[in-house]
Amino acid sequence: MEKQVDVVIVGGGISGLTAAYHLHKKDPSLRVCVLEAKDRVGGRTLTVPLKSKNGTDYWDLGGQWVSTSQKDIMNLIKELGLETYPQYHSGRKFTQVESAKVKSSRTDVPPLSVFALADLSSLNSKLNKLGKEIDSNDPYRSKKAKELDSKSVHTLFKESLWTDGAFKFMEVAIRTAIGLEPSQMSALFFLSGVGSAGGVEAVFGMNESDAQGLKVKGGTQQISQIMANKVGIENVLLDHPVEDVTQDEKGIRIKCVNGVTVCCERAILAMPPTATSKISFNPPLSRERLEIERWIMKGNTTKVIITYQEAFWRSHGQSGEALTYGGPTDVAGCDVGPLSGVMDASTPSGNPALVMFVAADQAIQWSKQDAEVRKGAVLRSLTDIFGPEAENCLDYIEQDWSNEPFIDGAIAGVATGGMKYYASGLRQPQGRLHFAGTESAIDWSAYMSGGVQAGVRAATEILYHLRPDTISDQELLGTACVSSYRPKHN
Ligand SMILES: Cc1cc2nc3c(=O)[nH]c(=O)nc-3n(C[C@H](O)[C@H](O)[C@H](O)COP(=O)(O)OP(=O)(O)OC[C@H]3O[C@@H](n4cnc5c(N)ncnc54)[C@H](O)[C@@H]3O)c2cc1C
Repeated sequence: MEKQVDVVIVGGGISGLTAAYHLHKKDPSLRVCVLEAKDRVGGRTLTVPLKSKNGTDYWDLGGQWVSTSQKDIMNLIKELGLETYPQYHSGRKFTQVESAKVKSSRTDVPPLSVFALADLSSLNSKLNKLGKEIDSNDPYRSKKAKELDSKSVHTLFKESLWTDGAFKFMEVAIRTAIGLEPSQMSALFFLSGVGSAGGVEAVFGMNESDAQGLKVKGGTQQISQIMANKVGIENVLLDHPVEDVTQDEKGIRIKCVNGVTVCCERAILAMPPTATSKISFNPPLSRERLEIERWIMKGNTTKVIITYQEAFWRSHGQSGEALTYGGPTDVAGCDVGPLSGVMDASTPSGNPALVMFVAADQAIQWSKQDAEVRKGAVLRSLTDIFGPEAENCLDYIEQDWSNEPFIDGAIAGVATGGMKYYASGLRQPQGRLHFAGTESAIDWSAYMSGGVQAGVRAATEILYHLRPDTISDQELLGTACVSSYRPKHN
């Protein structure tokens, strides 16, 4: 079967559907077709029902938090008629980072020694200063780029910190946030994220302007579902994995595994760069693109949601937060327990829950265990931290993103030494082919907001060719059609 449209978008996650929605808003007469490999839209956002105190409620197993400083996703959420609510974070916090001993704070400050807290504060200042100096359009153009790309985040922290407590705290924070060990990741990659977010506090914090500040009522998968409905559900073809993209001077032919071929003028790839490598391209993708694909690593993250009858932690004056290296375990094949970070996940309808992550090396080790063994270990670790009430859950669900077909991982990071072709390889159009997906974003790359920004940018590039009168000079300025990179802080 062969179909002809104006634009094909490969990937029905937030980024691809933002591109489709943007094209549709600019000119509803444009024939747009989204080809999605899975049987659902949303990609790395997935909202599921769980048994809860007041019946059934909904939780996010993928992307969850947004923030007032993420203007691209916040504007979209508002436009789609969705609402946000704040992350609960008041009360005592737990850490289990330096040893198996669980420490609890009396205030909102993490329970670390005064020396470790002072050490963390000076590290934050240093990271913020370095982050500010990085050009988020192309981090490799920055003054200290080569030096920073040649060291891992682990080395950067070792050079900067003098207390074991602060170092171990940061190690766990990185694991939880990205799903990679600090020793695997380029310091330049990490610092470009810090710079584009506006500081370390914004990356790890939980105030409304921080990356963990707000959640979407009813879940984030709705964002993609609503956009799919707006572009016309008949234009979003599920179960259509793309296997071949061939372009020449006349157009592009996109072939799916199920035999369907769609021909078009221009196309957008809106998927993780690691998934792009499974498609054959004729002519082949540029050397820069192939090079950066080899340096991008998908983080290992299993996300767990547990629902409860009561938010017992809140009644004990606790925030529900814990950072742990995993604690001890007697399960063979696992060095430490499964958990790294835990937070309150109660919904605005009053249904108590905790969300937690099994991340990086721990995720790999624990993925080899039976689901029941893993669940037992998660509940045991929670009980060690929060007390016996943590064991009496109503519902339990986990999602290992490394096993998710067509996604193969959660958040992407760049390996030490791999940043040279980050911007040009991920963002530069190749003939009739354009690139979206959160990894290609300038601001908040790896987050949903980056996915939205990249989707709008790629759609604008296409409008420049197919409907130039629908875009302003200002809109065009952010695209790779005018120059490869946007002027900084434009
Ligand atoms: C556990 C977890 C927690 C996260 N937490 C947050 C958070 O709190 N806040 C935040 O902002 N972000 C978070 N993220 C990241 C966020 O979810 C992503 O940045 C965002 O959803 C990426 O959107 P995307 O459209 O770029 O890519 P994706 O969502 O990965 O969409 C790509 C789509 O392409 C499809 N595809 C792949 N290959 C093919 C093919 N060959 N043919 C057709 N289709 C194909 C895939 O099936 C997928 O649907 C989290 C992610 C995970 C996994």
